[in-house]
Amino acid sequence: MSTNDTAAPILSARGLHHSFGQTEALRGIDLDVHAGEVLAVMGPSGSGKSTLLHCLAGVLVPDGGSVTYRPAGRSAVETSALGEPERARLRLSDFGFVFQFGQLLPELTAADNVSIPLLLAGTRRPEALRRSRDLLERLGLDGLGAKLPGELSGGQAQRVAVARALVTSPAVLFADEPTGSLDSLASENVLTLMLELVREAGTTVVMITHDARTAAYADREVIVRDGAIGAGYRVSA
Ligand code: ADP
Ligand code: MG
Repeated sequence: MSTNDTAAPILSARGLHHSFGQTEALRGIDLDVHAGEVLAVMGPSGSGKSTLLHCLAGVLVPDGGSVTYRPAGRSAVETSALGEPERARLRLSDFGFVFQFGQLLPELTAADNVSIPLLLAGTRRPEALRRSRDLLERLGLDGLGAKLPGELSGGQAQRVAVARALVTSPAVLFADEPTGSLDSLASENVLTLMLELVREAGTTVVMITHDARTAAYADREVIVRDGAIGAGYRVSA
């Protein structure tokens, strides 16, 4: 395991508050994420998990509190103080995202879907496609690069989404119920392959799940309840 408890956390949230109208989604969250760890975020539906992930990932600026990101070899940055263009650049260069439903573009092939983040980052198309096909192969999807998302099974499509999230070698992978739409066999398959890749690369993972079997893949879990970090807390060996 590559978690280094003596190093400063790669992500720190302090006193996070966020409301949507009258709904207080986050009510003062403090959380450190350590470089290289796989952190599971659990808790009931509506407890604020996705809102927390969006704040950590710089998708959403919290109403109160701060998020600090400490990239290896670069200065720390308070992402919650940045404007959207800077946060968008950071998300593209440093973070990867997987959601419950892969959100693949239906009119693009699997390989083209995986290439998108590389093309946005300025990689030329032949190189982007080569890297995409390599990664699809690592995820057990050899030969499926030319398929459209509609021609893939749910588990295959979710592996394409994982490939797209990891193709830029992000420092942090944010996954919001990445296998929530799959049956348990497909889910296990996606998680095993995803974690093999992130462990190998030392990628930090923040993964929301409400499934204890999925959380068992993590190094550590935190529970969010009513917009706060709850009492339940497990650290595995
Ligand atoms: P979880 O991911 O744990 O299910 P969320 O973070 O999505 O919870 O939501 C926390 C609370 O904030 C819920 O009450 C939800 O209804 C509300 N909420 C989340 N996003 C929005 C939004 N865009 N507009 C209004 N309310 C929202
Ligand atoms: Mg959610």
